[in-house]
Amino acid sequence: MLLITCPWCGPRNETEYRYGGQAHVPYPDSPADLSDEQWAEYVFYRDNPKGPFAERWMHSIGCRRWFNVLRDTATHEVLTSYRPDEPRPGGNR
Ligand SMILES: [Zn+2]
Repeated sequence: MLLITCPWCGPRNETEYRYGGQAHVPYPDSPADLSDEQWAEYVFYRDNPKGPFAERWMHSIGCRRWFNVLRDTATHEVLTSYRPDEPRPGGNR
């Protein structure tokens, strides 16, 4: 069971949250100009690192706000959480 800290509500059990996939995936500037392969890459292809990974989570049973969590995919340890308007701690994506 993960203990995830919502930036607005504090630490809560993972059952209060909904997973939203990889964080920091920017919407294309002009999606109509993308090829089918580029669009498929934007929609379906995500990083799959072993180690720290920035993910989107939504506090569905609490404040219903989206935020980002930096989680180690090898240990499931939640390293930190931060608001969407804040940069990823430690740089990278
Ligand atoms: Zn919350």
